[in-house]
Amino acid sequence: MSVLRFDNVTKHYAGGHPALVDVSFEVAAGEMLFVTGHSGAGKSTLLKLIHLSERPTRGAVLFAERNLLKVRGGKVALHRRQVGAVYQDHRLLTDRSVGENVALPLILRGDRRADADKRVRSVLERMGLGHREKALPTQLSAGEQQRVGIARAIVAEPRLLVADEPTGNLDPALAAEIMTLFAELPARGTSVLVVSHDLALLKQMRKRVLILDHGRLVDDISPQDLAE
Ligand code: ADP
Ligand code: ADP
Repeated sequence: MSVLRFDNVTKHYAGGHPALVDVSFEVAAGEMLFVTGHSGAGKSTLLKLIHLSERPTRGAVLFAERNLLKVRGGKVALHRRQVGAVYQDHRLLTDRSVGENVALPLILRGDRRADADKRVRSVLERMGLGHREKALPTQLSAGEQQRVGIARAIVAEPRLLVADEPTGNLDPALAAEIMTLFAELPARGTSVLVVSHDLALLKQMRKRVLILDHGRLVDDISPQDLAE
């Protein structure tokens, strides 16, 4: 079963160079992969097409084998709930506790408070943050804040987690710790797509790597090839 498929996707912005050119790839359920490339290569555009904040000029993006072209209007919000997002700058609400931040996606989708609280506690435990539920984000270290961001992104069990330079602000040890948490998600039913230009980290993780260059997908490296 495929979670995500790009079929010959081209994206032109008005007046600019093409941001993506004829890009095709598929992400299987339970797969983790990286997308890398220089600044301007098209990485953010690729995320925006998944998130439906942009639409392809040509070609199709399929999510869970459904053409996103057909997802319009009120259905866009429903689609976004199936995609968890982690950012470089965690984007937590600073006036809400850790627990309230993580509960947000569940409250938005209409879970009962008691059910939400149970899930929040369980996911915070998994992230090693069980004791931080009542804290405010500003009272946490950078690594802890990023783990709260991940907890919030996965609490509703999305099919896909996308992360945009999630370790950009962390030192190498914390970055590796965050990556280890990501690597555990596929076994729990969430595929993971990480945009990163941290080559050392990519080598260390030994996952599939897509390389974008000026909007073209120039390489799709399997973990086996990376090991050589
Ligand atoms: P990356 O995330 O790899 O840095 P982007 O997807 O942001 O790459 O950008 C790819 C190309 O598209 C760049 O040439 C960039 O200038 C251009 N681009 C991105 N967003 C816009 C936009 N909203 N309007 C015009 N050009 C854009
Ligand atoms: P924008 O305001 O253009 O959406 P942001 O800076 O908010 O950009 O987000 C960073 C990148 O992550 C953007 O490319 C954005 O489209 C993407 N993104 C945000 N949320 C999601 C999501 N749930 N799924 C996929 N991509 C996302």
